[in-house]
Amino acid sequence: MRLYNTMSRSIEDFNPIVPGKVSMYCCGPTVYNYAHIGNLRTYIFEDLLRRTFRRSGYEVRHVMNITDVGHLTGDGDDGEDKMEKSARETGQSVWDIAEFYMKAFFHDEEALNIERPDIVCRATDHIADMIALIKRLEDGGHTYISGGNVYFSIDSISDYGKLARLNLDELKSGARIEVDSNKKNPKDFVLWFTNSKFKDQAMMWDSPWGRGYPGWHIECSAMSMKYLGEHFDIHCGGIDAIPVHHTNEIAQSEAATGKTWVNYWCHGEFLLMGGAKMSKSSGTFVTLPVLEKEGYDALDYRYFCLTGHYRSQLRFSYEALDAARTARKGLMERVAEAKAVSSPSSVPSAKAKEYMAAFDSEMENDLNAPKALAVLWQMMKDQEISPEDKLAAAYYMDGVLGLGLEKAGKKEESIDAEAMKLLEERAEAKKAKDWAKADEIRNKLLSMGYAVKDTPSGAVLQKV
Ligand code: AMP
Ligand code: ZN
Repeated sequence: MRLYNTMSRSIEDFNPIVPGKVSMYCCGPTVYNYAHIGNLRTYIFEDLLRRTFRRSGYEVRHVMNITDVGHLTGDGDDGEDKMEKSARETGQSVWDIAEFYMKAFFHDEEALNIERPDIVCRATDHIADMIALIKRLEDGGHTYISGGNVYFSIDSISDYGKLARLNLDELKSGARIEVDSNKKNPKDFVLWFTNSKFKDQAMMWDSPWGRGYPGWHIECSAMSMKYLGEHFDIHCGGIDAIPVHHTNEIAQSEAATGKTWVNYWCHGEFLLMGGAKMSKSSGTFVTLPVLEKEGYDALDYRYFCLTGHYRSQLRFSYEALDAARTARKGLMERVAEAKAVSSPSSVPSAKAKEYMAAFDSEMENDLNAPKALAVLWQMMKDQEISPEDKLAAAYYMDGVLGLGLEKAGKKEESIDAEAMKLLEERAEAKKAKDWAKADEIRNKLLSMGYAVKDTPSGAVLQKV
């Protein structure tokens, strides 16, 4: 297995700490809103990484956190808590907000065939672990208290910013506007807030420094070390995490333990929309339920993501998604044709095995999914490969690609326009509290072969 390591800026051979095992931590969602499909691109990349390791014979321990406290709207301790803001805007409690969007997130992950991490840990369940880590940093002389908050002092270590290769002198002399006058160095960051800017903060805990709540970065250090130990193999996230979040995670983790924390840093590039990064703050974002409502299958989006390398930017458009849908449909049809005349061979031919090996080597070469997908297509079109072997090899490759090929031939695929129109009418009826009409439409849809499934983000149709 070869992987690009952001720390060295180069592709390296993967050498695990414990032979045959991989310990991997991925920053999870902040559950204050729906994940957009850009976020989901990053989780698809992490899913491919984990599936490829398993395919290569590694035992993987994959940990992902759920951020349900402490993530401010600005990365540099500025702005307000995203959860609190969302609660205020919707009139719900922060706890309800977290539950709701966590469910919505896992609905998206399931629809995209993203395997559930072995451990999913919520920040609010690990406050004691964070306090213990901050205490350790305090004992080591890496913190100071200012304006009531506990800060990490980046000048207490010698290599702050090594992941992002930050030039600290340049940053100091640059015209950065610093909002927090409590900080000794503008790059210092909050470990624990007690003197909150937000007086009505709902989530607060007792701590040696007073009642308050943790900063965002400390949760990932505390939870990853709890479940993977003080030194583990891989840490993943989107590239936007490099300059602040991952930089601060490294600073505090290595200051606490005095040794290297993570061996490989893997980052996924952005999904772009209209030339810019898709983001919630810019307002131009698309969610998976929106695509589903437009009649796309979640796996059309997964296929679309596979057509770009995870370290390249990928430009989202409905035209490109249409192309992915057509390609996926074509693939499903070819698998269905083979399925109609045979079942998968248990001992594939040498030629089929060659394709399988070529597929693996593309994925093991820094996850080259577009090339691996091309190998799958080439194999499906190869007239020398029998239908039995086509099935066996396609299912083998799909163990990593996760496109649901084994379901080929089952009634699914596109939902017709009339059904989508009825679904919208049902939503209108529900809004107007006309339950009888809503039920009537549900029954009509059922007679057309569609079940209505209510999800946290609205109703979707499923073929029955
Ligand atoms: P958040 O829920 O905002 O903490 O983001 C969840 C994950 O999505 C993080 O790993 C981000 O780096 C990543 N991410 C955010 N925006 C994009 C984007 N436009 N394309 C790909 N990944 C993204
Ligand atoms: Zn993190």
